[in-house]
Amino acid sequence: MADFKIATIPGDGIGPEIIVETIKVLEKIGGLYGHTFAFEEVLAGGIAIDEVGVPLPDVTIEVCKKSDAVLLGAVGGWKWDVLPGDMRPERALLGLRGELELYANLRPAVLHDALKGACPLRPDIAAGGIDIMIVRELTGGMYFGDRGRKQTPLGEAAWDTEMYAVEEVRRIAITAFELARKRKKHLTNVDKANVLESSRLWREVILDVAKNYPDIELDHLYIDNAAMQIIRDPGSYDVMVTTNMFGDILSDEASQITGSIGMLPSASLNKDGFGMYEPIHGSAPDIAGQDKSNPIATILSAAMMLQYSFDLDKEAKAIESAVTAVLESGARTGDIMSDGMRLVGTREMGRLVLDRIK
Ligand code: NAD
Repeated sequence: MADFKIATIPGDGIGPEIIVETIKVLEKIGGLYGHTFAFEEVLAGGIAIDEVGVPLPDVTIEVCKKSDAVLLGAVGGWKWDVLPGDMRPERALLGLRGELELYANLRPAVLHDALKGACPLRPDIAAGGIDIMIVRELTGGMYFGDRGRKQTPLGEAAWDTEMYAVEEVRRIAITAFELARKRKKHLTNVDKANVLESSRLWREVILDVAKNYPDIELDHLYIDNAAMQIIRDPGSYDVMVTTNMFGDILSDEASQITGSIGMLPSASLNKDGFGMYEPIHGSAPDIAGQDKSNPIATILSAAMMLQYSFDLDKEAKAIESAVTAVLESGARTGDIMSDGMRLVGTREMGRLVLDRIK
């Protein structure tokens, strides 16, 4: 029995509707298993720009820092697309990751049995199931490195820098090895060590950390090969660890082979296990406010929160089992709808999951 403070950031578009359903799920878990979840809602994204003039208000950061975990819906929308880069709603995400030092991004790509038909790969390729955990470094590399523009004889040029320090690699490597230990004990390191010096250092550190994990089978792929292997033979991967930029691309690719963007959760963790949990999809402005969005990715993000930040494995499993049971019952939101299934809205999907939590 424990008390947890959760900062909620509904954000924009479908964010508020999927967060509402997820809070109900957590409250039910709290009631059944004797925990108290106290929610504090804060602003970020487009709604924060509208209400207080900035995408990430200081008070949001303060509340998140004082909480045990953060649950985020999504930010962004057409309305704010005209704003300059540093005033865009998406800026809030980078700000939160940096301020909360969320360097480890975990994105599971799981193909649910009931949704096998949604997998774009040939049935024989996906037959053995897909359950990959992509571990992406989130606060370093090219997205945060030095950049600039200069004049050259060939005209204006622009540059970005990929740089990793040993400790940045070591901490993400430890996260990945520890995760592999709790799963199938297989870790695949993805880099570009045949070309990039930063990748050579990355791999040296991975190999060094591996000495502490003799029970984990470690192999290495270059990023270009990894992009091929993930669609050629996805069943043979367990945990994959990679840099910020490679992980950005690889995790999107992995998510696509599982069928729907509305199903996939994510966790971004810091060194203390504190985390921000959010669906991988965006704010889906095209269906916002129409009771059409799939709340499952956010509900499963809450399950990850229970598992990774609160150590409540049994409770996390209860949520995952409820989601599986609902899918097996044939209920589908529009994004995962197929012939012979029953179309439901956001609220109904939330209620069905709630009903099956035991
Ligand atoms: P998106 O993920 O919002 O939507 C892509 C497509 O998937 C849309 O057709 C949408 O209707 C559908 N979709 C997404 N989530 C769904 C769900 N839960 N249920 C059913 N259908 C769903 O991506 P986009 O259209 O490229 O971006 C829209 C906005 O979201 C942009 O402003 C973008 O910058 C922002 N965005 C935010 C995040 C985030 O908050 N983490 C991530 C990606 C994009």
